[in-house]
Amino acid sequence: MGFGFENTYARLPDRFYAAQSPVPVSAPKLIKLNTALAAALGIDLDGLDPALVFSGNQLPQGAEPLAMAYAGHQFGGWSPQLGDGRAILLGEVRDGAGKTWDVQLKGSGRTPWSRGGDGRAWLGPVLREYVVSEAMAALGVATTRALAAVTTGEDVLREEVLPGAIVTRVASSHVRVGTFQYFAAREDLEGLELLLNFAIERHYPDAARAETPALSFLDHVIEAQAKLVASWMGIGFIHGVMNTDNCAVSGETIDYGPCAFMDNYHPDTVFSSIDRQGRYAYSNQPRLAHWNLAQLASSLLPLIDADSDRAVALATASVDRFVALYQAEWTKVFTAKIGVDDVALAQALLSAMEADGADFTNTFRALSGLIDAGEFTGQAAARNAWLLEWRAALGDATAADLDAVNPAVIPRNHQIEKMITQARSGNYAHFENLMDVLSRPFERPDDDRLTKPPAPDEVVQATFCGT
Ligand code: AMP
Ligand code: MG
Repeated sequence: MGFGFENTYARLPDRFYAAQSPVPVSAPKLIKLNTALAAALGIDLDGLDPALVFSGNQLPQGAEPLAMAYAGHQFGGWSPQLGDGRAILLGEVRDGAGKTWDVQLKGSGRTPWSRGGDGRAWLGPVLREYVVSEAMAALGVATTRALAAVTTGEDVLREEVLPGAIVTRVASSHVRVGTFQYFAAREDLEGLELLLNFAIERHYPDAARAETPALSFLDHVIEAQAKLVASWMGIGFIHGVMNTDNCAVSGETIDYGPCAFMDNYHPDTVFSSIDRQGRYAYSNQPRLAHWNLAQLASSLLPLIDADSDRAVALATASVDRFVALYQAEWTKVFTAKIGVDDVALAQALLSAMEADGADFTNTFRALSGLIDAGEFTGQAAARNAWLLEWRAALGDATAADLDAVNPAVIPRNHQIEKMITQARSGNYAHFENLMDVLSRPFERPDDDRLTKPPAPDEVVQATFCGT
């Protein structure tokens, strides 16, 4: 019955969080409930009103709501105290396989960490997070999930008056690089060690048996992030706010703010309106993940070795391995996308795509149809040469192999914008349409409009954090 909440984070010392209930809203209405995810998590909503539960108006039995403390580097600048300013962890659920998941409301009202903010979210970012995080899961990318979305019936004031909403997020935990930084910056060694033990038990239990658990943990996070960022690159995903507080030690994509998918390929692509320097541009993502991991390593130093020189040497060696790990993951992703085990060939295609501004998703998806094509009609000369070389190198990779790694459809920015515009007038048809098609991103949808790049007047120039 119910959620069957466990509350292991709430058992950590008081300084890890602030006990905080969601602030009730006036007229909650359910937009969407992810029944498949609820079932997979063993959540039984029988006898509960989802609109009341997922708005925070009614606390499910066993919930011990709290806002987590964390710090972080935002765009490279240090913020010693961030924390959940508009999110509430209701509790943790255990799925059938014994794995633990956090259930968190986002947009659920002010907390002691809200600083100047209102603790709320508006409908646009809530729907974007719902659609994009679920699409990422279907695309095979490690990610937080969306369990529910509700409207609050209340206005949220940004540059304009907007409809309020709340998304319920499920994550294997909400421990971030910034959570470690929070305790390290306070020189709270006891807190740091408790956090490490928590994160090891939750994510990388074998690290507990390693000679140096903190170092083994760091290595696990480095591997997970290398894999994660390579998988982002493989689908043209730009996170947009890779701050250390948005970097989960689980290796899941977290915090879908101004995130966006590239249409035409260019490595410098950036969408976020607040990323004026292009710090988190597409091609910078591996470098920034590396930087974030160095911050994690630095926070873990006192737990790696009592001798600080030795700790630095060990941590540095681990962090340095990210570059090769990432390169190996990138190679795996992109050689699979072309079906040929030749990294130079994959890079040559990207260069050609950059030169002619080819659509990232559709160019890779089209390869499967070119395996047996008599000739390459309508291709530029440079692309033609590449295709000939590619086909000569192609071993026994089949069209089905390529289609299994090159999605036919991704959540394109202009479609997301269209969905949000519709939803603001109470029409969720496009939201449902996107959810349906994006649950099978490797299948060509009947409605082929969703696979098309934006027309010139549909191009989205910037995405907004939506805070
Ligand atoms: P984000 O950019 O969403 O990762 O948020 C960065 C920090 O700002 C976190 O501490 C958030 O909790 C906080 N924050 C963002 N939006 C709001 C808001 N509307 N009210 C209160 N805090 C917020
Ligand atoms: Mg965040």
